[in-house]
Amino acid sequence: MVHSISCSCGKLQGQIKSVNNINRCVCYCADCQAFARYLNKQEKVLDEHGGTSIVQTIPENIVFSQGIENLACIRLSNRGLLRWYAACCHTPIGNTLADAKLSFVGLVHSCLGSDRHLLDETFGSIRMYQHTADAFRSNKPRTRGAFLGTLRILGMILKARLTGAYKNTPFFVSESTSTPIATPKVLSENELAEAMKVKD
Ligand SMILES: [Zn+2]
Ligand SMILES: [Zn+2]
Repeated sequence: MVHSISCSCGKLQGQIKSVNNINRCVCYCADCQAFARYLNKQEKVLDEHGGTSIVQTIPENIVFSQGIENLACIRLSNRGLLRWYAACCHTPIGNTLADAKLSFVGLVHSCLGSDRHLLDETFGSIRMYQHTADAFRSNKPRTRGAFLGTLRILGMILKARLTGAYKNTPFFVSESTSTPIATPKVLSENELAEAMKVKD
């Protein structure tokens, strides 16, 4: 184990197993903001410009050791990412793609402890700042490192596809690449509109 995963009430526990296949980013996109707002965790999750700090890796690198029955899932739209959270205390956990063959998970910092320095020490510092057009307040951050970061992620996905590592994922029913372990709830139009509102 290199880093522990926990929801804020502690019922859901897990680990990131390895420092390999890691990319760190801050995503300012309106969808990541909406996810935090939907769970009413915007104050905990979003930085002053609406950014979400994320540790990106492959699902094979994640184990849940306790309380996995608390994992729940929403989608902002029919075709959106699967956005996972702990139903016990509404802690955002992370995002996966709907097709497990595309092996990717972005873990939201809210399940990775409050010590940012520990994340830096373990995984290296953040090198990718993306979708800054959706950032709020003046002095918006600039998009940085998105090209190299995206290449790194595509490399992880491709490698997992070639080695078959994509099959090891705690987010999908075993042997399936299209059935998540929790049925995703797609937000209604009203829920989405509410979540998208910048309440700054
Ligand atoms: Zn919890
Ligand atoms: Zn985003």
